[in-house]
Amino acid sequence: MQITEIYASIQGESSFAGMPCVFVRLTGCNLRCSWCDSEYTFTGGRKMPADEIFAEVEKHAPIKLVEITGGEPMLQERELVPFMQRLVDAGYTVLMETSGERPLASVPAAVHKIVDVKCPHSGAADTFHEANLEALTRRDEVKFVISDREDYEFAREFTRKNDLPSRAASVIFSPAFRKDAAGRTAENALLDPRQLTEWILADGLNVRLGLQLHKFVWEPTTKGV
Ligand code: SF4
Repeated sequence: MQITEIYASIQGESSFAGMPCVFVRLTGCNLRCSWCDSEYTFTGGRKMPADEIFAEVEKHAPIKLVEITGGEPMLQERELVPFMQRLVDAGYTVLMETSGERPLASVPAAVHKIVDVKCPHSGAADTFHEANLEALTRRDEVKFVISDREDYEFAREFTRKNDLPSRAASVIFSPAFRKDAAGRTAENALLDPRQLTEWILADGLNVRLGLQLHKFVWEPTTKGV
């Protein structure tokens, strides 16, 4: 697989947030989201055989949580799917972050998929692969990155229409962060987290407020954390 980086950090934006985690970041993405913080994954990287990637993950023992991320990992589906199964068989808890644009039916059931649904102002609106709703399991998490009221209303209606809280372990509403963010503060959010919280409570939504924890621990533009 083409790999940008492998490193240990804390998981930042799911119900596993705060847990030590080994990240395997795959190179390449077919989308171009407005506030993407992973543009450095679009090109470059290094071809690594599965055995070498597995050995790199094992170096971070005793961490047993692994996140497959990118870029868009499912662009390398042919090699990635057996690799995720290998991690599961070795006793790892495996998370996979995906844009939601690629079909996900082939992902092993034991993998916790963290699936984006891109909002209107993301720069990648209408890219969600609708059949992925049927691929969701009670392990999975669905995430909306929200920059304003219009994005929020889209996320709210999509959540209600598809009854997401009954399909997935968690539905995450997360404020978008500016790309040029500086300093470890909520002022870098394009939408004030308090405003988003108030909307969620006013509408009685059974969703989780998501904050990108790593952006409060390290400088927001730091890579490999
Ligand atoms: S899908 Fe993810 S990696 Fe790809 S452009 Fe959007 S935010 Fe960046």
